[in-house]
Amino acid sequence: TLSEAPRRIRALEQDVVNKIAAGEIIVAPVHALKELIENAVDAGSTSLEILVKDGGLKLLQITDNGHGINRDDLPILCERFTTSKLKAFEDLTSIGTYGFRGEALASISHIAHLTVTTKTQESSCAWRAQFSDGTLVPPKPGQSAEPKAVAGRPGTQITVEDLFYNVPTRRRAFRSASEEYAKIVDLVGRYAVHCSNVAFSCKKHGESAAGVSVPSNASTIDRIRIVHTSQVANELLRLEIANERWGFKAEGWVSNANYSIKRTTLLLFINHRAVESSNIKKAVEQTYSNFLPKGGHPFIYISLEIDPQRVDVNVHPTKREVNFLNEDEILEDICNEIRSNLGKVDTSRTFMTQS
Ligand code: ADP
Ligand code: MG
Repeated sequence: TLSEAPRRIRALEQDVVNKIAAGEIIVAPVHALKELIENAVDAGSTSLEILVKDGGLKLLQITDNGHGINRDDLPILCERFTTSKLKAFEDLTSIGTYGFRGEALASISHIAHLTVTTKTQESSCAWRAQFSDGTLVPPKPGQSAEPKAVAGRPGTQITVEDLFYNVPTRRRAFRSASEEYAKIVDLVGRYAVHCSNVAFSCKKHGESAAGVSVPSNASTIDRIRIVHTSQVANELLRLEIANERWGFKAEGWVSNANYSIKRTTLLLFINHRAVESSNIKKAVEQTYSNFLPKGGHPFIYISLEIDPQRVDVNVHPTKREVNFLNEDEILEDICNEIRSNLGKVDTSRTFMTQS
C-alpha cells in the first residue's frame, strides 16, 4: 500500500548483496564452468575431466591434475577478492590473465553447494572442504567444517551441485537441460582446441560416450578435427601475424575458400581466454564474402595475444566483453592477412563472386 511518508532507505543484507553479485557473474551453468576451466588451466593442468548432470544445474564437476591448493589456503578460498594471481592494483595492468578477480569461487559458493578436493605435490594426502556463502561449512550438521584429510591424487576436483538452488527465479528460467549441455560442450570444445598439451573430456553423468574427448598429445589441427569434423580440418590455412606498433600477435587456423558452412564458427581467444567479439566476427565475414558462395560462412580459430597494458578486461564482471586499444587497426591487419592467404591457394577451385 502507498503511504504519504517516504519509505525509509535500508541497506540490503550482505547475504542478499552477495547473491545479486554472484548472479551477475554466473547467469548459466556454462559461466561457472568457464571460470573453473580457466582456474584449472591456470594451475598448469594437462588433463581436465568434466562431468555434467542436468545441463550443469544438478552437477558440474571438474577434475584437474594441476598444482593443487595448499590446505592452509582453503579457509579463505571462497572469500571474495581472494586470489593467488594478483597482489596489488598495479598488477592489474600487467597481468596476463583475466581470471584475476578472485571472485569466481566466492560467487559459486553463494548460489550452489561447492565441494573442493585438492592435493599439492608436497602434501601427503588430499584435503576436502565444503563451502557455502563464502565460508567453510560442515558436510553434515554437527560435523566439523575444517578441511578433512582424504585419499587423492595431485590436482583439484571442484564439485558444484544444485546451482541456483537458492535463486528460484533464475532456476526457473532454464528451459532445457540439453540446451545448457550444448553450451557446455561448445565451451569445452573451444578450450580443447586452444589448449595444446591439455587433454579434455566432457561427459553427461551416467553416459559412457563423451561429448568432447581430446587427448593431450593431439595437434591443433587434430583438435579441430575431433571437435569440428574432418571436413573443416582438411581445409585449413595457417594464420600468423604480429605487429609491434599495435602490440599484438595473432595465430590460428582459418578455413580456405573450398570450405563453407551456413553459420560462421568463430573460436576467439584473447590472451588465452575465450571471448566473444561481434566486431571481429563481422569483419572476418566481410573478408570471406568475396571468396565464398553466397550464404556461405567460414571457420575461424584465432588466438590473439595483446600487450596486457593495452587490454581493458575490467569492463564487466562477466569478462565476456573485452576492450583493447587500436582494435580497428588490429582487425584490419588480421583481415588483410586472411585475404592474402585466401587469394594464394588453388584459385582453380575457388569460387569468386563478381564485385
Ligand atoms: P581467481 O582465479 O580470479 O584468482 P578464483 O575464485 O577463480 O579467483 O580462484 C581463487 C584462487 O583459488 C585462485 O587464485 C587459485 O589460487 C585457487 N584455485 C582455484 N581453482 C584452482 C585449481 N583448479 N587449481 C589450483 N588452484 C586453484
Ligand atoms: Mg578464476
